[in-house]
Amino acid sequence: MKTLSYGRQFIDGEDIDAVVAVLKGDWLTQGPSVKEFEERFAEYVGARRAVAFANGTAALHGAYFAAGVEAGDEVLTSAMTFAATGNAALYLGGTPVFADIDPATLCLDPDEAAKKVSGRTKVIAPVSYAGYPVDIEPFLRLAAECGAVVVEDACHALGAGRNGVRVGKEAHMTAFSFHPVKHITTGEGGMVTTDSDEFARRLLLFRTHGIEKDPQFMTEAPDGPWATEMQLLGFNYRLSELHAALGASQLRKLERFVLRRREIASMYDALFDEVGSLGTPPRHEGHSYHLYPVQFPAKMRAYAFEELGKLGIRGMVHYLPVPMHPYYRKRFGYLPGDFPHAEELYAREISLPVFYGLSDDDVRRVAEEVRRITGFA
Ligand SMILES: *Cc1c(COP(=O)(O)O)cnc(C)c1O
Repeated sequence: MKTLSYGRQFIDGEDIDAVVAVLKGDWLTQGPSVKEFEERFAEYVGARRAVAFANGTAALHGAYFAAGVEAGDEVLTSAMTFAATGNAALYLGGTPVFADIDPATLCLDPDEAAKKVSGRTKVIAPVSYAGYPVDIEPFLRLAAECGAVVVEDACHALGAGRNGVRVGKEAHMTAFSFHPVKHITTGEGGMVTTDSDEFARRLLLFRTHGIEKDPQFMTEAPDGPWATEMQLLGFNYRLSELHAALGASQLRKLERFVLRRREIASMYDALFDEVGSLGTPPRHEGHSYHLYPVQFPAKMRAYAFEELGKLGIRGMVHYLPVPMHPYYRKRFGYLPGDFPHAEELYAREISLPVFYGLSDDDVRRVAEEVRRITGFA
């Protein structure tokens, strides 16, 4: 019996050749592949600049830093996300502040977010959960009112679109991940896109120890052509040439990947249409379906998860709301019931397999088992 995971990478001969070519070349890090990947990525999402990072978490860390988050500042985000969206604020001495989701989109509810804005809100970080492109305008308005920067966590939403453009263009900065379950992979990798040269400069500095090499941006007259200046405390968050070459090669297949994910989602939608007890993901024409999250009746979820597992269908639950993790509860005193919609999603959700290499037969098999479990077929 074939095992199906909720997500998996697709690597072809071109990807392998691209990585091998780097291994045979002169540059293993900080060479032309990173630049090429960044330029093509920026072009794809329609942003002016893209800055590659070692992973999506580092990309979020860099974006919050570039936005000016310092000790005591707040980063307002969705309770329904991966821990990294909150953790990256903590790395900077900032405080993640969580708000509940809108059950109609499974993304941060702008009205709930507005209630959590304070004088220390430096970043508003909506998450395009599962690949549903969150409505960004209310957050841009809210940020304008309180002087914050909008950093969209689009680690689920590469290839998604809204308002006639791709995700990655409209927020002040947008963070992406290239973990193997995401739309394209570099093994580990991440990216921040922005239209702002000033944000891009701070992102680049942060990625390489805060060290400036361009005399034009030095604070003191260089003492020679070798001069470098460390201007702020950054990290080594660089992406290697091997990873970047893989990323550039994967990017060429992205449109195909997204179209196939949409096809799979619409097959599931149709097969679950009459199953009244099953909640299907909110629909949006620009959805890019990193995940296909279904909602069972809460009392049936554990049984469904185990039954599917026995059949080699390895779903996953996305997510325990970040503030409900023991670390966050202990540190910030969050209690069950603080985020009712996110907690309800956690109690009911299973992410079903959705990825480029999934066949129509696989989709039908998964759907058939889900229908059987719910008692519909
Ligand atoms: C994957 C992911 C991240 C982190 O990305 P990594 O590349 O694994 O560090 C952050 N936020 C969300 C919502 C993600 O899904």
